[in-house]
Amino acid sequence: MSTYVVTCSRCGTANRIPADKEGKKGRCGSCHGDLLPLYYRPVPLTDVTFDAFIKGYAGPVLAEFWAPWCPHCREFEATVVKVAGILAGTAVVVQVNTQENHILANRFDIKGIPALLLLKQGKIVDRLSGAQSSDAVISWFRRHR
Ligand SMILES: [Zn+2]
Repeated sequence: MSTYVVTCSRCGTANRIPADKEGKKGRCGSCHGDLLPLYYRPVPLTDVTFDAFIKGYAGPVLAEFWAPWCPHCREFEATVVKVAGILAGTAVVVQVNTQENHILANRFDIKGIPALLLLKQGKIVDRLSGAQSSDAVISWFRRHR
């Protein structure tokens, strides 16, 4: 089974977490502190589920806003999946379908899609528009570390 590295924010130990523990809050094998829950795939969220999920995740959140009718969003989907895998254990990638979730689209003032928002503690740190390459998304993310 594949594993992902989740680095402990308290002691810096790299913990290997099996893929089947996705979404569960692990404990550091060294200091027993809470680890960020591992997510290695994008998590679909809605007007109903968004706030509780974001509140429960201590790390940075990349929120992609998209719609099923948008060809650029369909093209961007593979990149979003790839980025979620690359950032597994460091950040979570979430997806919001703006066609079904108008409250979130309005709240985050989404004017064009696909759009990526970087959130920390629920607040917008930056936005990235359009179907970018995974390299562009990752370097954009790392500029805000
Ligand atoms: Zn630790």
